[in-house]
Parts: sequence; structure tokens; C-alpha cells
Amino acid sequence: MEIEKSREIGLCFGVRRAIKLLKEAADKYGKLETLGPVAHNQQLVQELAKLGIRPVDKLEQVKSKILAIPTHGISPSILDKIEACHVHTIDTTCPIVSQAQNTAKKLAEAGFDIIIFGEAEHSEVKGLLGWTKGKGIAALEAKQIAVSSWLLRAKALTLSEAKGRERQNNLFRLGIISQTTQSWPALIEFSRQLMVALPAKVEELRIINTLCQATQRRREAAIELAKKIQLMIVVGGHNSANTKHLAEACSPIIETHLVARAREVDSSWLVGKQRIGITAGASTPDEAIEEVVAKLKSL
Ligand code: SF4
Repeated sequence: MEIEKSREIGLCFGVRRAIKLLKEAADKYGKLETLGPVAHNQQLVQELAKLGIRPVDKLEQVKSKILAIPTHGISPSILDKIEACHVHTIDTTCPIVSQAQNTAKKLAEAGFDIIIFGEAEHSEVKGLLGWTKGKGIAALEAKQIAVSSWLLRAKALTLSEAKGRERQNNLFRLGIISQTTQSWPALIEFSRQLMVALPAKVEELRIINTLCQATQRRREAAIELAKKIQLMIVVGGHNSANTKHLAEACSPIIETHLVARAREVDSSWLVGKQRIGITAGASTPDEAIEEVVAKLKSL
């Protein structure tokens, strides 16, 4: 049996940077907390907990004087609340996420309504929505936008038109950005569907690519590998968006399984398979990948 790893695999620079910052802070201050998991990988969170770095779900649960902001970033309103708590912060927000936040902020300040292509309940997207200053909405499907804010907005426009306001004042300026870990083909399709559904009141439309290139490279490399092997194992957190997208990208090509830990590998998957591919999400520690490789070899 031959096992081939993807040429782009595992921890991205954003998560590596966060781990480095957290370890330095733990060395300096001892114990500290992170607002939510630093990245969506349980094994990574457990490893950091051994160094005294623990996640809390809410600001009210913070006990230490040092609080780390996770790689996914947070909204400005949460930042204000943290400041009011007088805790020292370690900001591990990935620079790619900071860039997306800045884009959302600038669009809002320039008078744009903002549509975020992404999972509304994902922590990064919740943070991005905060930076739109109430002018944003997030969805994975264009039709979700059509049935919510668009109808309400259209109704508001009709009312203001009835009051005889200048037509120019009733035009939309619309910006589309993306959760950093979505894929380029999915963003294109989302934007296409949205443009078809747009009312004629759009004065200006800007689509800004806020995708993370590290994620795109992992996806492309995984697809390339999937075409050469008989079984693909994707290693990473079941709640990690970019890990799930890797599995979704490989599934139409070849039998694919997502596992968080080596113990989840099922020996029946290997029956009749000579060439097995391995890829891993951007928050998957190297140890988790090596454990899975060792398990496959043992089987
Ligand atoms: S996947 Fe991309 S955006 Fe997310 S932490 Fe890594 S480098 Fe940053």
C-alpha cells in the first residue's frame, strides 16, 4: 500500500503564527485564555491547554488578566467590551482575516451594503458582520438573501419613493466579500446567482476577493492528488470549515473520509485500495497527520 501526502497540507501560516504568539504569551504570563478556540481543531486546543492556554466561550467566563483573540477574529463591539474589562489582549487574528475585516469596514464607511458569502454562524463571519456596522448580511446561497433583507429593503425603497425622494437616493451600492476559507468556484457561483437576482436598483456592485490563498492552494493540491489515488483521507476538525471544504472538493472525484483522529480510521475503507492520499485542514497539527499515517501503515 502506498500513502501519498498532498503537496499542500496541514497548518497554515495564520494558525502557526497564532500558536507562536500564544506560546510566547504563556511563557511570559503563565496562564491565559482565548475567546473561543484559537482554531477549530480539538487536538490543537488540547495541546495548548497543557501549556495553560484555555478557551472560554464568553467574555463573562474570563478569569485571567490575559485574553487572546482567536485567528478567526472578533467584531468591534466585542473588542470594546474586552477593553472595558481591562484585560490585556494578545491578538492572534490572522492577517488575512484582518484584511477582510478592513474591507468590510471600508465598504460600510463608503455607503455600501455588504453581502458576505459564508456561514452566518461561523465565528469569522460573525466577526466580519460586526465590521459592516449593521449593513451586512451573510449567506451561503443567493436565494437566502432574496427571502430576507432584500425584500425588506425593497419594501423600504418603495415607501421612500412614494414620499417623492430623488431616485438617485434609492439606489443600492452593493459589495460582496467572502469568508476567507470559502472556495473561488463557490464564490463565483454565489456571485453569479446573486447578480441574476439583483433588482435594477443597483447603482454599483463591487466583488472583492477576500479568500485566503493558503486555503485555495490546499484545495487545488487535494483535487490534484484525488485524481491519482483510490482513497482520500482528510484529517482535521469536523467543525473546521476549510477541512470540510477539502472533503467536499475530493468526494466527487474519489471515495473520501474526514477524520479528526487516527482512531476514526475504519479498516474496511482500505479493502482493495493500493494508493491512499492524505490531506489536512489548515488548523490540523502535524502530529494528527502523522498519527493517521501511522494508523494506515499499521492496518
Ligand atoms: S486558513 Fe487562511 S485565513 Fe484562516 S488562519 Fe489560515 S492563513 Fe489565515
